[in-house]
Amino acid sequence: MQRVYLDNNATTIVDPKVKEAMEVYFCQQYGNPNSLHEFGTEVHPAMRIALDRLYAGIGARDEDDVIVTSCATESNNTVLKAIYWEVIAKTQKKRILTTPVEHPSVSQVCEFLQNQGAEIVELPLNQDGIVDLETLKAFLEPEKTALVSIMWANNETGLIFPIKDMATYTHSVGVLFHTDAVQAIGKIPVNVQEAPVDYLSFSAHKFHGPKGVGGLYIRKGAPFVPLLHGGEHMGGKRSGTINVAGMVGMGLAMELANEALPYEHTEVRRLRDKLEEAILSLSDTMVIGKREHRVPNTILASFRGVEGEALIWDLNKYGIAASTGSACASESLEPNPVMVAIGVDRELSHTAVRFSLSRFTTEKEIDYTIEVLTNSVKRLREISSTYTKKRR
Ligand code: PLP
Repeated sequence: MQRVYLDNNATTIVDPKVKEAMEVYFCQQYGNPNSLHEFGTEVHPAMRIALDRLYAGIGARDEDDVIVTSCATESNNTVLKAIYWEVIAKTQKKRILTTPVEHPSVSQVCEFLQNQGAEIVELPLNQDGIVDLETLKAFLEPEKTALVSIMWANNETGLIFPIKDMATYTHSVGVLFHTDAVQAIGKIPVNVQEAPVDYLSFSAHKFHGPKGVGGLYIRKGAPFVPLLHGGEHMGGKRSGTINVAGMVGMGLAMELANEALPYEHTEVRRLRDKLEEAILSLSDTMVIGKREHRVPNTILASFRGVEGEALIWDLNKYGIAASTGSACASESLEPNPVMVAIGVDRELSHTAVRFSLSRFTTEKEIDYTIEVLTNSVKRLREISSTYTKKRR
């Protein structure tokens, strides 16, 4: 059976070039980079190249820090807790401004910090499902605000937030700005000089790098305290023996992802749009968020009368991997805030399915998906209408 992977916002295939570059650091050059002998020192050049690639990849300056972490969850935790300890606990600035659609590695840390005395304010989304600059301006009280933390692109909808404008404004009023750029890197240009953020989180496995390695950009002079103490690794900013293979893989993956951006914006976008058109040509379907506001690889679609989960299982039977895009907050069954903001009726919030492509997705895979999806939606609608009739 053909297998089609359309869940690239969850994780991506490791680029074979990345895998090859990493291999030498398992059984050949496996020394601890902190050791003084040659086994340790011989890995330094590759680590230097990896760091250079990460700095270049996001436009960081030499005087800024880019630290390697174990994942973006760690990077997000590090920033928010550092702000708590360094700003919120020590000054009158108790507030963190954020959005209702952040990944749990931001939103659940905010909830935790709220219990410690931080004041968390979620900015309302506009009709396009994002926070706009005017809303940020209206809510941002510099004397009370320690941090603004807003994702660059949303993992479920692919909607892009205006980070450049928001970071520029936030900076101009003397407040710190963090962005979770996990879903932006490799999909749109990300540059910390053009968008003057103080902190930026990323994760290798979302751009064809390995799992278990992430990164955190820290602008020079931005308040910081490590999450992990215990050694002088990463200039004392993140202790723990360095994942050399992971770091090498992430550096190369970042470089390749940036090189592939033109392809992402032409070919990946074309295939995404082809699938999207096919979805919209079915009756009673909709796609969340305007196409021009989204990263080129993502579709969050709703199929009236079809449970998202049922559709995922049906597609899975035919080898196609998509995701429900967490359309409901699992425990509360509250509809997705983006869907609410853009006026999608409540009933539809259970019918959302996310398709996320990558530069490894082929036209043949999209054609197969369109065929299977069209039949699945038809079949599931028939089943659900028979069931409804029987119950009447
Ligand atoms: N932030 C966003 C927007 C994500 O989509 C994810 C993963 O899905 C994360 C953070 C967490 O990344 P990691 O798996 O590296 O912890």
